[in-house]
Amino acid sequence: MCVLFVVACLSCHVCAVVSVDVHFIDVGAGDAILIDCGDWEALLDAGRGYAEANTAVRAVLAEHITDGVIELAILSHPHADHYGGFAEVFATYRVLEFWRSMDTTPDTSGPGYASFSSTLAAEGLTTTLLTHGETRASGQLVWDVLGPGPLKTTPAHTNDNDNSLVLLLSLGNVHYLFMGDVESGGETALFSSVLPIGPLVLKVAHHGSATSTSSALLDWATPDVAIISTGYEDPPALETLSSRWTLASTWLTSAVGTITIATDGVSCTAVAGSGAVAGVGAATPAPAPGAELFLSVSPVTPTGQGGTATAVARTLPGASCSITVYYATGPSAAAGLLPKTADSVGSVSWSWRVGTRTSPGQARIVISSEIAGQLKTQVVYFQIVDTGAPG
Ligand SMILES: [Zn+2]
Repeated sequence: MCVLFVVACLSCHVCAVVSVDVHFIDVGAGDAILIDCGDWEALLDAGRGYAEANTAVRAVLAEHITDGVIELAILSHPHADHYGGFAEVFATYRVLEFWRSMDTTPDTSGPGYASFSSTLAAEGLTTTLLTHGETRASGQLVWDVLGPGPLKTTPAHTNDNDNSLVLLLSLGNVHYLFMGDVESGGETALFSSVLPIGPLVLKVAHHGSATSTSSALLDWATPDVAIISTGYEDPPALETLSSRWTLASTWLTSAVGTITIATDGVSCTAVAGSGAVAGVGAATPAPAPGAELFLSVSPVTPTGQGGTATAVARTLPGASCSITVYYATGPSAAAGLLPKTADSVGSVSWSWRVGTRTSPGQARIVISSEIAGQLKTQVVYFQIVDTGAPG
């Protein structure tokens, strides 16, 4: 009787079984990951909170949580596509513990942040701010906090992403690396951590965005399986990632639905919602409702006086894009610098002639992308090379 009581108590609040199912829920462009270990569950992010995403989260939670309790909720970083669904989760389930990044300058302006905060407060939870280097255990599960490294304190979208909580979850010899939305600027700080040997499942950062998952990151992580939680089937990073890495085991939630990777600590099995396993995924580009706007401008090659310069950017398909090129004398009026709409894979480019009289040196390019009330602007510089052109 006494033994039974002790066993029952242990199984209440820790993962007391030696297998775990990790469900990467298909919430479109966002993250929601349920870590299910018998009667113990953790929810890492909760999706954007729009109806479709909430429906997906609701269904997976209802299927796997039978006691009305989520032992641990985790917010990787305070962006709407990660916290948006928590309001409903907190209203529906009893949550026992809440972890979040050390980020002290969150972007609180996103839609739904207020209701997220108030439902969190209503739970009466103590928020634990995790620190790089910390290790925590939930029964057999071990959490290593790899990031964020030194916090970027300037409030900026990129900095919020780079301040994401990066967690390595291990059961036995098998590891899951949850990257939040860390971009390449925040990856470097992770490399001081040595990853353990054994199969590694990578939750690709920032929904497959090209500004994350550098070659250095892939060299460091050497994942066996990668999951991209995204709302469209051809995330702009895929071309970039393909050039960095063989994508034999990369699955997209947009292509196969919710993906479950289960392990007993020795090996992994995987099941996708559609029962199929995706490779890179055929392109059926259409931004998900509420897809987060991004803009990535490639470096512009130095161009000689009289030569043709080209600027290439990736953004959401269908976004309205504009470019202004500033020389020492003011904005360029060259032909070819007209507003454009990003194509079906989110690509947009401009080519223009640099005048023979344009002063050599550095010039500034400002590119903007706008869709559904969201606006992104990026500035890049390029070099005008003195070719001794006449004029
Ligand atoms: Zn995100």
